[in-house]
Amino acid sequence: MSSIAGAFPVLKDVFGFDGFRGRQEEVVARVLDGRSTLAVMPTGAGKSLTYQLPAVMREGTCVVISPLIALMHDQLRSARANGIRAATLTSADADWRETQEAFRAGALDLLYVAPERASQPAFREFLSSAPLSLFAIDEAHCVSEWGHDFRPDYRLLRGMLDAFPQVPRLALTATADKQTRADVMAQLGIPEDGLVLAGFDRPNIRYAIRHRDNPVRQLTSLMAGEPGPGIVYAQTRRKVEELAEKLAAATGRSVRPYHAGLDPEVRAANQAAFVASEEMVIVATVAFGMGIDKPDVRFVAHVGVPKSIEGYYQETGRAGRDGDPSQAVMFWGAGDFATARQRLAEVDEARRNSERARLDALAGLVETAECRRAVLLRHFGEHPPASCGNCDNCLEQPGVTDVTELARKLLSA
Ligand code: ADP
Ligand code: MG
Repeated sequence: MSSIAGAFPVLKDVFGFDGFRGRQEEVVARVLDGRSTLAVMPTGAGKSLTYQLPAVMREGTCVVISPLIALMHDQLRSARANGIRAATLTSADADWRETQEAFRAGALDLLYVAPERASQPAFREFLSSAPLSLFAIDEAHCVSEWGHDFRPDYRLLRGMLDAFPQVPRLALTATADKQTRADVMAQLGIPEDGLVLAGFDRPNIRYAIRHRDNPVRQLTSLMAGEPGPGIVYAQTRRKVEELAEKLAAATGRSVRPYHAGLDPEVRAANQAAFVASEEMVIVATVAFGMGIDKPDVRFVAHVGVPKSIEGYYQETGRAGRDGDPSQAVMFWGAGDFATARQRLAEVDEARRNSERARLDALAGLVETAECRRAVLLRHFGEHPPASCGNCDNCLEQPGVTDVTELARKLLSA
């Protein structure tokens, strides 16, 4: 595990988010490890966070290249609203001197500049007067003539970047086809293995959300069809222990628990064994999975509901990173939502509304008769087709079966 574990409290305390979205976690982990990266993520995916969070955590100032003054000022406002020490150096700013002094004093997390400025030798000299944490190149497709918005000034950035070879580079864009991506990486000196390409869709994951009747039996049957490694998320330490024991007994497979109450050595050993195994199942609280890179997880199961669609997406997203067919199955009960709603009463009022909205959105996904993937992707601002053919609702046509089932019950009553 890397420094990504330390990112979670910052995510919560500084940005107010419960979890990463999509592949933010992967990008942040790379940057925290000092590895240069091109992140291609859809608009609204939250690309800003992937440099702002490392900017807060890493020593020194993060220099952000952004093509438009209006964009920079938007970013500046929202960063400052989160208490991040940020400034812009543009022709529209009157506080140049203060900004320069703050930078030299190491009192800035973020410094936004336009590419014209960044490419000037005098600016390079200025930058060498204090430590740098990261170069973030926003709208990085502008560097490529293949991209849809080529800016010659972006071409000149390389001189600045190469003057600080030890500072990692994070290039960000929402739109880059294959040719543009390759060009951006070559232009900015990002290694070939530095690409994180993220639409929200994970087509190899089959989603299913089912009523829970007997979770041990339901999980046993899931595991019978999936001999590969899997993660089962349960709500409490006690349930984790109990499920791990019962599943091991029922399936004869290697099943281990993971939660914060375990002896640290046992916990680390269970995690290491899981990462190395081609068949182990780990039963865990949501604490499990942060910063773990295991590409061949064949299923993720939830016993009980997660906290939000974002949480669900992040946790299920740990399945099938290798692109092979994988399953995400949630076993829920109506009581789960009742319990979660009761817990809202204890939350302070400022957060209650947003938490309730998150819970409602999740309930929408759980209760829908529509394509699960479509609901999920729409939640993240995408415009997916109405049917994916790879979720329980698409495969089992619940609209039809539910009605016949209901009719049968009514008739036999
Ligand atoms: P992009 O630059 O990729 O288009 P932004 O960085 O502007 O996206 O972020 C889009 C929105 O998503 C912002 O309102 C931001 O606060 C929100 N956001 C970012 N990360 C998260 C997260 N982990 N959880 C919830 N909301 C997030
Ligand atoms: Mg953006």
